[in-house]
Amino acid sequence: MTQPKAIICLTGSELTRGETRDANGSFLATELTMLGIHVEELRLLPDDERRLEEAFGELCKRAELVIISGGLGPTADDLTIGTLARALGRGVIRDETARENMRQKALKRVASEAEIPGNFYKQAEVVEGALVLQNPVGLAPASVVKTERGLVAALPGVPFELRAIFSEGLSEELTGQFNLSAPRILRAKIMGRPESWVEDRIQQLAIDRETLEYGISARPGELLLKFISHREDQHSLLDDARRLLESEFENDIFFLPEGLKEASGGPLDISLAGRVHALLVSCGASVATAESCTGGLIAKRLTDLAGSSEYFIGSVVAYQDTIKSSMLDVDARLIEREGAVSPRVCREMALAARKRFTSTYALSVTGIAGPGGGSKEKPVGLVYLGLAGPDDETIHVEKKIFSGQRDLVRTQTATRALDLLRRSLEGCPPGNA
Ligand code: ATP
Repeated sequence: MTQPKAIICLTGSELTRGETRDANGSFLATELTMLGIHVEELRLLPDDERRLEEAFGELCKRAELVIISGGLGPTADDLTIGTLARALGRGVIRDETARENMRQKALKRVASEAEIPGNFYKQAEVVEGALVLQNPVGLAPASVVKTERGLVAALPGVPFELRAIFSEGLSEELTGQFNLSAPRILRAKIMGRPESWVEDRIQQLAIDRETLEYGISARPGELLLKFISHREDQHSLLDDARRLLESEFENDIFFLPEGLKEASGGPLDISLAGRVHALLVSCGASVATAESCTGGLIAKRLTDLAGSSEYFIGSVVAYQDTIKSSMLDVDARLIEREGAVSPRVCREMALAARKRFTSTYALSVTGIAGPGGGSKEKPVGLVYLGLAGPDDETIHVEKKIFSGQRDLVRTQTATRALDLLRRSLEGCPPGNA
């Protein structure tokens, strides 16, 4: 079965001018991929009648599915319905259900119908002959029109409206229209290893990369690895790939639950925290943090997921040296002698946090996030990370020199800290940390 091809068309001059960051492209691309539709291209188009009409005409000839976002509003620069209708050789009509829905909503805000502006009902316009999907959370409905090659759908640009119409209506239409086979996707994170090193090792594994689609992308301190099987009779190749990756990368790798969606801001962004969350719960362990240069970022990431009260005890953001002494009992003379950014201070912070919060584990970090405060001996990016484990013998302290600016140093530090905890928890006996 060949996959249908889709082109996503994001309209709006505020996008092409860079004023608004697109939030719809990655959502649509993820959803379509998960349904088994191949996204061939994402286009950004300005609010320009001629450009829109030309592009819509051309794209509908090129792809089985075209999804357009934006331009369904009441203002003069909302051009999608008119230009799409012309490109398809159709007319524009007003959808009465949408119009009535709008009227009802407007009457809640204004005293009488006379106060509703004339252009308000422009949002009820749809392409003639279209299947109309009503907007459950806004005003403008979507038009879904059959083309010679397949379908074109025009959706509102407001991200939560687009998501609602896609999930509550369009997704089902697509499943009905196309003969789809959902892909199986194997996703893994490889932690703390450079991309070229990982790529080189993957090349040497006997993974069928001719058959499986492969992707690798770098994020601060981690790599996201992906293998996709598009045919059901080939899905088991992913099990072979997983076994090979596991034995090659051992504790550096962990796999994400299958079926997890990955649109930006979605669960994938918190997949490391998600893995730590699952491990802490299954091991019955708890954690506390003592943070200097991350200013609470590790605690934030440990509490991003609902249910974190089951394992997260608390944190001391010990930014000033006096707080390291008063709240964490780090000897002021030790700080004076070795500096706050030193392995011994980091060690004492972790041990003190674990004791103070009576947690199973405690993470500590102390470092120089920059841009100021660096020296030859202690450059910007130098960070010590500590992990105090269930007993006094299990204390790990390590030195890292992270590159990048303040934000990146802090992000990499938090990622590494969470990963230290993950590594320690992997394979722990359930309920018995
Ligand atoms: P509505 O009819 O509900 O007003 P619309 O289809 O008219 O929606 P637009 O007029 O194109 O949508 O945009 C409305 C607002 O939605 C924009 O001001 C912008 O804030 C947001 N928006 C539109 N497209 C995008 C996008 N691709 N990514 C993020 N936000 C967007």
